[in-house]
Amino acid sequence: MKVIWNNKIVDHEEVVINPEDRGYQFGDGVYEVIRAYNHIYFCLDEHINRLYSSANKIELTIPYSKEEIKTLANQLLKESNISTGDLYLQITRGISSPRNHTYPDVAVLPSLTGKANEIIRNTEKLTNGIKTSIEEDIRWLRCDIKMISLLGNIMLKHEAHKKGAEEAILHREGIITEGSSSNVGIVKDGVIYTHPDSHFILPGITKLVLKRCAHALGIPMSEESFTLDDLKEADEVFCTSTTLEIMPVNQVDNWTYSVTDDSIVRRLQRAYEKEIEKQCGP
Ligand code: PMP
Repeated sequence: MKVIWNNKIVDHEEVVINPEDRGYQFGDGVYEVIRAYNHIYFCLDEHINRLYSSANKIELTIPYSKEEIKTLANQLLKESNISTGDLYLQITRGISSPRNHTYPDVAVLPSLTGKANEIIRNTEKLTNGIKTSIEEDIRWLRCDIKMISLLGNIMLKHEAHKKGAEEAILHREGIITEGSSSNVGIVKDGVIYTHPDSHFILPGITKLVLKRCAHALGIPMSEESFTLDDLKEADEVFCTSTTLEIMPVNQVDNWTYSVTDDSIVRRLQRAYEKEIEKQCGP
């Protein structure tokens, strides 16, 4: 199995993670998950731009150009022979020894790793929706950075899983922020609502495509935060992420929502598939 290891594609066995790598010790790094369909990445530029933006927010200088990273990503996809799947790409601040919280000298080389996996689309869930639970957003105040330290997110997802739910929908003092690994939206009286981009949420790339789809369909979309009560009263609820795509939610705690073929979420899903086709072919 091949992986990205700094500026090369190597056999998985060749990668050696140093115990003093700051990613390993501090969770000091940023990442991306990029979906591929028909052997072609979807929204590759947007993901690479966000990787640089996240790195920039933590003053981590990526020692490769965007073009170099895109070339590596494409080469890995090809060598891994992935048709429908994803690429997990992460960059940490590298090795600083002895362990020290302070950022190391800029001469320390960041560690880049990447692995591609075949993952098929979950058509059953995309059709019927998923169950979710409400959890309090206990995370920090820089959720706009796509960082590898995901303890808050995984603790919340674990709470959801204990309740038999697939995703945790998070709130801060009654305002819905996002999911533990997705953005969240509702539809009420024909209007789509999602939390505006801010330090409370990750600026999702699927949310960006959703906006494009809504615009193309003439469905009004308002990036305006909404409350737990709005969620309860919503006509439709959905999560968006690179892996979930536009995923209908059929249950939030004990509240249920119907997912029908003429629903707005369904129309958005069809438009999203057209976006995939445009970039990756049928
Ligand atoms: N919020 C969080 C916390 C996430 O982990 C993700 C998935 N990476 C998203 C939102 C959705 O982002 P995207 O659509 O870019 O995958």
